[in-house]
Amino acid sequence: MYEQMGISPRVLAFADGVEQNLRERFDEIDRTAEYNQCKVLAAMQKHRVSEAHFTASTGYGYNDIGRDTLEDVYASVFHTEAALVRPQIVCGTQALALALASNLFPGDELFSPVGKPYDTLEEVIGIRDSMGSLKEYGVSYAQTDLLADGGFDWDGIREKIHENTKLAAIQRSKGYAARPTLSVARIGELIAFIKKIKPDILCMVDNCYGEFVERLEPSDVGADMVVGSLIKNPGGGLAPCGGYIAGRTDCVERAARRLTSPGLGREVGASLGVNASLYQGFFLAPTVTAGALKGAVYAANLYERLGFSVLPNGNESRHDIIQAIELGSPEKLIAFCSGIQAAAPVDSFVRPEPWDMPGYDSQVIMAAGAFVQGSSIELSADGPLKPPYSVFFQGGLTWYHAKYGILMSLQKLYESNLIEL
Ligand SMILES: *Cc1c(COP(=O)(O)O)cnc(C)c1O
Repeated sequence: MYEQMGISPRVLAFADGVEQNLRERFDEIDRTAEYNQCKVLAAMQKHRVSEAHFTASTGYGYNDIGRDTLEDVYASVFHTEAALVRPQIVCGTQALALALASNLFPGDELFSPVGKPYDTLEEVIGIRDSMGSLKEYGVSYAQTDLLADGGFDWDGIREKIHENTKLAAIQRSKGYAARPTLSVARIGELIAFIKKIKPDILCMVDNCYGEFVERLEPSDVGADMVVGSLIKNPGGGLAPCGGYIAGRTDCVERAARRLTSPGLGREVGASLGVNASLYQGFFLAPTVTAGALKGAVYAANLYERLGFSVLPNGNESRHDIIQAIELGSPEKLIAFCSGIQAAAPVDSFVRPEPWDMPGYDSQVIMAAGAFVQGSSIELSADGPLKPPYSVFFQGGLTWYHAKYGILMSLQKLYESNLIEL
């Protein structure tokens, strides 16, 4: 089939050699998925999920038991007191902005102990001046960078914490930065350290791309809130939109009141028929995440074998589903992305081209052929056209699709004589 689908025997033979060595890694990923599958299943059983929960509510959305029960299921899986899981939360950025804006007041300081946060949060916080930012509302911001080796700067963190420090935002995934992703265990150490200095600091973890990669979540190691997007891991590829905040009742309640209105809170918000997809997607999420993880490990090992620098490297333990590969030239970056695009179930016939995307200081190329627009739990790749010409690659609803996409990326590089096998 692979030959019929455009992969040359040379590419296949090379890739087979790499895959042989990954059995143990894949088994470990499967065992984590098995554990997490049980976790989700147990939560659904505990809350007696039934067909009645899949019906649509409209208008105000009063008495939407499907919505309320889904929030209980999320809270059980994340071991939190409460959760807000809503299609009205457009994306991860909104979920994070909501968690921050509802729990910070004028005069409070927001603190990142792990360096610069994800790009889209710069305007939320006001690192880049922006209308409606937290800065405009009188919330200040402080940051301590990670050390050069990726470690926490304990002294630097201690120095930045003071009387007004109200909330620490901890980003689990590296996003598009060149730093290691934080394991849940390391997040736990960081939270313990912060709380020892000032026990009432709220610790919020940006959990994007991290859900179900490990057996524990940041909420198991002391996070007061975990926040993420439903078009990444926890939506399992089926959620058409949405975001979540799981955590302490008071924090979640504040977020709900900011999302709808004081007095209304979580009581309103029509689910408009998406409940079934949110449940089913959450049910599938551990397996889908495992497939994406296998794809990331496979890509790391293939490209590492070819001599490219990859982050994380081929045998490092994984804490999110993102893989970065330094391709080193614009031609290679474009060829890689064309391969990912050509392998997609949707829009496989289009060729991605670099463009001047607003907010970036260089051209950017993006490849995605997704069922849900912008869904990055589906196989997707992107990268800025500037040195070192790194591609950031993630997702894959099934391991087989992730594998085919990576094979196709290699095929495109091989056909254009950009690599030798
Ligand atoms: C994806 C992501 C976000 C939010 O992104 P959206 O595109 O708004 O969903 C925030 N933080 C990290 C680390 C992310 O990966």
